[in-house]
Amino acid sequence: MKHFPIFMAVEGRRIVVSGGGDAAVAKLRLLLKTEARITVFAEDVADEIAAWEAAGRLSVVRRPMAPGDAMCAALFYAANDDAHEDARVTSLAQADGALTNWVDNLESSQFITPAIVDRDPVTVAIGTEGAAPVLARTIKADLEERLPRALGTLARVGKAFRKAAEALPMGRARRAFWSDYYTVTGPEVFDAEGEAGLTPELERLLDTHLARESQQGRVTFVGAGPGDPELLTMKARRALHEADVVIHDRLVTAEILELARREATIIDMGKEGFGPSTPQEDIDAAIVAHAQDGAHVVRLKSGDATVFGRLDEEIEACIAADVGYSVVPGITSASAAVAAIGQSLTRRGRNASVRLVTGHDVKGYADQDWRALARPGEVAAVYMGKRAARFLQGRLLMHGADAATPVTLVENASRPNQRIVATTLATLASDLDAAHLDGPALILLGLAPREGAQTLNIVKEEIAL
Ligand code: SAH
Repeated sequence: MKHFPIFMAVEGRRIVVSGGGDAAVAKLRLLLKTEARITVFAEDVADEIAAWEAAGRLSVVRRPMAPGDAMCAALFYAANDDAHEDARVTSLAQADGALTNWVDNLESSQFITPAIVDRDPVTVAIGTEGAAPVLARTIKADLEERLPRALGTLARVGKAFRKAAEALPMGRARRAFWSDYYTVTGPEVFDAEGEAGLTPELERLLDTHLARESQQGRVTFVGAGPGDPELLTMKARRALHEADVVIHDRLVTAEILELARREATIIDMGKEGFGPSTPQEDIDAAIVAHAQDGAHVVRLKSGDATVFGRLDEEIEACIAADVGYSVVPGITSASAAVAAIGQSLTRRGRNASVRLVTGHDVKGYADQDWRALARPGEVAAVYMGKRAARFLQGRLLMHGADAATPVTLVENASRPNQRIVATTLATLASDLDAAHLDGPALILLGLAPREGAQTLNIVKEEIAL
């Protein structure tokens, strides 16, 4: 780039033109678009120039340039169409300290004038460094056609609205507002109502964008509880009611999904141990993509989202994408399972701690602190433990657990098809096989259903197993 494009402040400054013929007229046409003070030096001037002079748009000094005539001028044009005279006046103007342009003489010019597409205050300047004036004209013609005539007016009115538009956060939100104005609503309103319609339109558009901004995409991670819709928190219900998109686990029941808005998009992104499942990255990506689209996404997870829910990965995906999130806790299935058998997860004098363990993890059967789990009085809730039951039983017995340790299987806790199977460590695996549990089930190690409880909805023969 041999010439660096800039926009020069010329308001109120002097621009001097030497010459009164066609070359001068062509330059003056452009210069008259500016707010500069223009002086022409020439013995004779063309009619157009005389008319501009008469209209007070420029002044004419009817003699050839002399030293000092370009004093204090920002720019100077040598436009005499006479090489000898142009050389003379150019050196005079340079001596006066003006930046000089010798019309149609690139080599001898300190600056050149681009082809201009004028949509004041939007100005497009096209330069080819003299290499291809035809190309410059073609580009200009193309842009003249493409840029709406109203653009200048739109920009002028828009400029006065810039302060108000700062109510929108900088970046994406503000860009979307201006792009809507310049490319969609602004030109439409200008065509229909003219300039007067533009400011009211900007106000209306700003309200729309502010409203949109306040409902920016976000993610609520919601614990859906063990299945009974009545075990949803009120916050969970409200989130479901407001969600645009609900992305749920396989374990979330149909009754709960019913509570989502009719217009909401419901997406099943199931994950099941050993079974067909959606890769975690796909789930993360879907959550983020919908939120970035501006949706309120409810990521609905069975039980409590923070228990064996891979919540952290999904939160991290939100953070990485700068998507806001919140977490609504839910009732984990261990709470529902012990409620079903009338027991507590902890009990004074029996166990001061309770473990939530998983039967398998990404690598297969999960290893645990078997020695600790094998101690008398320990209580653990085993999630995803159906297939791991035999492994679990073997490890615990190997680490000295009492074979008579009570174990209770709770399938479909809190749901109408809830089943409870009371067993012991000695027969855990075979009882579990025999029970053919096909719903989600929790293994409660160290707990038996409370004896003598009349209100329990326990299938007696299964307790007898
Ligand atoms: N976040 C969930 C657990 C997800 S892991 C929670 O807090 O409950 C999935 C496991 O949860 C299932 O394999 C099963 O062991 C257990 N589970 C989920 N819902 C259950 C239900 N209604 N009854 C029994 N176990 C359930």
